[in-house]
Amino acid sequence: MKITVIGAGVVGLSVAYELASRGATVGIVDARGVALGATHATAGMLAPHIEAHSDALLTLGVSGLALYDDFIARLRHDAQQAIDYRRTGTLQVGRSAAEAQALREASQRLTARRTPHALLDAAGARLMEPALGDVAGALHIPEHGYVAVPGMVSALVAALARRQVAVSRAQVTDPTSLDADAIVIAAGSWIGDLLPPGPTVPVRPIRGQLLHLRLGRPPASRVLWGERCYIVPWQDGSVLVGATTEDVGFDETPTVAGVRELLDAATELLPELATASFHEVRAGLRPATADELPIIGQSATMRRVFYATGHYRSGVLLSPFTAGAIGDLILEGRARPELELVRPDRFGL
Ligand SMILES: Cc1cc2nc3c(=O)[nH]c(=O)nc-3n(C[C@H](O)[C@H](O)[C@H](O)COP(=O)(O)OP(=O)(O)OC[C@H]3O[C@@H](n4cnc5c(N)ncnc54)[C@H](O)[C@@H]3O)c2cc1C
Repeated sequence: MKITVIGAGVVGLSVAYELASRGATVGIVDARGVALGATHATAGMLAPHIEAHSDALLTLGVSGLALYDDFIARLRHDAQQAIDYRRTGTLQVGRSAAEAQALREASQRLTARRTPHALLDAAGARLMEPALGDVAGALHIPEHGYVAVPGMVSALVAALARRQVAVSRAQVTDPTSLDADAIVIAAGSWIGDLLPPGPTVPVRPIRGQLLHLRLGRPPASRVLWGERCYIVPWQDGSVLVGATTEDVGFDETPTVAGVRELLDAATELLPELATASFHEVRAGLRPATADELPIIGQSATMRRVFYATGHYRSGVLLSPFTAGAIGDLILEGRARPELELVRPDRFGL
């Protein structure tokens, strides 16, 4: 079967990798090149119990997280590359009595869902992460983690190349004009460019700015999550600090205000970051739908077309799930039960 994937972000690359692994003949088309959309700015956190603000998103996120170990193991093997992927947990840090109280309430919700976690007092939090600034209480969720996305992308590209799948540079305007048995739209925030004129575009771009700092060694052993920012320490001493959430249209420019806000918040959480070197600021457009759930499945109006878009804040977390679900749909005609939550026809697609 011949399949074209539009979009070489983390979602499109993962979908292409899954389809090619299962024997399909795959081509990828991207207007910019590899991982230059939202994927370029992502933090790569895998933290559904913090990020999911609805039951449906939590269901998807937990399904996605459960697939990660196997997906990365397969990818490391196929690409013969190392990937910095660790499930060392998240530590949410409350700096005031009110924030500590909010963590106690979050702990009750986790208990009700039987999610393993530990509620810590200030001493317990400091024992776990000695470099913390002010802390009144903390919440540890051990099954969370992160993946360093540049390494994951590089491995996806290498694994795809081994299966003779390349990324060609082109702007697609009409997906139905493509010569393929199936077309997967993984165009992130730009899905509107690919739809026929008609109903309003179901995805809007939400800008996020992310800092890349560097220290000689990781300043913490796990992802730290404060009220105003999160910090992702990679094993090579890189430290990601994210992220702003800005509804500013298709503007991918980082701003002074965004950088200042993140630096203030990060040095409050981990004072040692004041000594870090400043490597880069990145900005990306998260593809957000009205219900903040992705759009995954077959088009109701264009039968050769499948959507894998609208992943908003969870595109990295959900990539293995989306890839597997699209593979099942196109190659086996089988719909995973979770796809009921993310049907394209809820937006008339
Ligand atoms: C600051 C920030 C932090 C984030 N942190 C996390 C996190 O910790 N964990 C997590 O899971 N997610 C996170 N996200 C969200 C995640 O990055 C996105 O959900 C994900 O990158 C979306 O991937 P994508 O492949 O769908 O889109 P993109 O990466 O945007 O890729 C879409 C691609 O489609 C191409 N394209 C579009 N239209 C066309 C066309 N007509 N023709 C050809 N090509 C086209 C574009 O050029 C682009 O390369 C974060 C996002 C941001 C911005």
